[in-house]
Amino acid sequence: MNPKTTILTGDRPTGPLHLGHYVGSLRQRVALQHDYQQFVLVADLQGLTDNGSNPQKIRDNIPEVLADYLAAGIDPDLTTLCLQSALPALAELTMLYMNIVTVARVERNPTVKNEIAQKGFARSLPAGFLVYPISQAADITAFKAEVVPVGDDQLPMIEQTNEIVHKMNSLLPAPVLRHCKAMLSDTSRLPGVDGNAKMSKSLGNTLHLSASEETIHRAVSAMYTDPHHLKVSDPGQIEGNVVFTWLDAFHADKAKVAAMKDHYQQGGLGDRICKNELEACLQELIAPMRERRATYIQDKSQLMEILKKGSERAHEVTQATLKEVKRGLGVPVF
Ligand code: ATP
Ligand code: MG
Repeated sequence: MNPKTTILTGDRPTGPLHLGHYVGSLRQRVALQHDYQQFVLVADLQGLTDNGSNPQKIRDNIPEVLADYLAAGIDPDLTTLCLQSALPALAELTMLYMNIVTVARVERNPTVKNEIAQKGFARSLPAGFLVYPISQAADITAFKAEVVPVGDDQLPMIEQTNEIVHKMNSLLPAPVLRHCKAMLSDTSRLPGVDGNAKMSKSLGNTLHLSASEETIHRAVSAMYTDPHHLKVSDPGQIEGNVVFTWLDAFHADKAKVAAMKDHYQQGGLGDRICKNELEACLQELIAPMRERRATYIQDKSQLMEILKKGSERAHEVTQATLKEVKRGLGVPVF
């Protein structure tokens, strides 16, 4: 028995990873992998829930996401990297859980509601998309994960997972599934480069972990500040000012950022200086990741081999949970 607490997190392979992933979850995973038993799931089936007619996009992005993981510092010797579609137990648990969750409950999930509106699905909403939080509950519980490092858009998913855990355990002769808790970072929702409340692949407002020097420069230059801060001497506003939100998220010297905020609010500190400060720390953060990533992405078969090996290990763990649930429900296990 491994005494370490288990972590499960993952990402949809819908595009290369961005700085929202980095501050919301990746940075924590890199730190936590030493002290926890950590599984990171490339959620390709979930990626298909809103890309059903474009499976090639999901396929192509699997190695991209893996290269990002390794570049960010996830070590496959410490973290098990695995692929959702290679773990049939996850799909089977999803089927079992779907029977104990009402349609009204899935429709009430605020993150899903928001995404449905953003994507303009209306009557073309894929059934799989509506129920993806149930499949996410299957992912988390199959690994018996107790800690889930995520951005705050995922809080409704954790809540729904715990409801499923409670309900399913009550149907079994003895509890099998574990309750889990979200682990939020200090920046649980990084705004996009366009000022939108969430940086997201689907919104096209991202800065990738592999962004070029020029792309970083352009993104920071165009970044939203305080529209009323017209002259340098004008007092500026911090709230809603994306440059300061990002300085909080990325700048290592918190005291310096606090002093800059005071100065900005009093007047006399120009946007250009704040942006230069932000750009310098982003360039410093991204440059080594970009370099490492360029090397990893050259050997996609090696990346897929890492994923295959991790998936074999994850297969055993998830299959064992599925068997326990099935036995508890009285479903024959041959
Ligand atoms: P998509 O638009 O395809 O849904 P995404 O950019 O939202 O992509 P996901 O793969 O859905 O990325 O999210 C993976 C993880 O990263 C989740 O834990 C999510 O909470 C976190 N995350 C994503 N975007 C942000 C963000 N802007 N700030 C903080 N965390 C984020
Ligand atoms: Mg998302």
